Amino acid sequence: MAKYHLNLAHLYGNLLNTYSDVGNIIALRYYAKQMDADIKVKVISIGQEFDPKKFDIALFGGGQDYEQFVISKDLPNKHAGIKKFIDDQKPLLAICGGYQLLGKYYVGANGEKIPGLSILPHYTLSQDHNRFIGDITIKNEQTGDEYHGFENHNGMTFLGEGEQPLGKVISGHGNNGQDHTEGAIYKEVYCSYFHGPILTRNGEIAKHLLITALHNKYPDEDFSQQESLVVNPTF
Ligand code: GLN
Repeated sequence: MAKYHLNLAHLYGNLLNTYSDVGNIIALRYYAKQMDADIKVKVISIGQEFDPKKFDIALFGGGQDYEQFVISKDLPNKHAGIKKFIDDQKPLLAICGGYQLLGKYYVGANGEKIPGLSILPHYTLSQDHNRFIGDITIKNEQTGDEYHGFENHNGMTFLGEGEQPLGKVISGHGNNGQDHTEGAIYKEVYCSYFHGPILTRNGEIAKHLLITALHNKYPDEDFSQQESLVVNPTF
């Protein structure tokens, strides 16, 4: 039995789960085990309450425009809970469709404007008859880490005030194919267009999310051993 216990909310996990994003949970559990922690997962979907006090970490995955449209109708019910979770510096990983829905709006491939949560200040426009698809490498300019992944999105996201990119694009398209940014960091929210899933190839992000969750939940514990865990596989 693990010494530490984390509760993970998989936001709309039954609807937003494209391109193996659920693998992020497997990766989190893999690293959590090495930190003497286990993770209990609960899908919180349409019509269900999201109580931020009950969760230590959250995942908001990617999906098709249709599912994003359906979910957008339910977002107002979860706005206060998700905002509180983020303001409390709890770690949230948002991929592609989930990333878009944390922002102001997403214009879908058919031109429909899908309102987001407006908790993060970015917005997402649509490309005409094109998607950004392929391998991508970026560099986190704060930590110096390189991240590798696979992107597949129509949306072009433009960051707002208070958001930092997750990294600078070295190869691939990133947020919008124009400004060389990829993803976003806002408080302890980590957003990215990387599928693949992101955490299996980028253990440093998994480690950061877990360490943050552990410090938040167990403020008096010493996690220096967990912090020294070597996570990155070599490719
Ligand atoms: N439907 C969105 C887009 O095409 C998100 C796609 C995804 O999550 N992979 O941009």
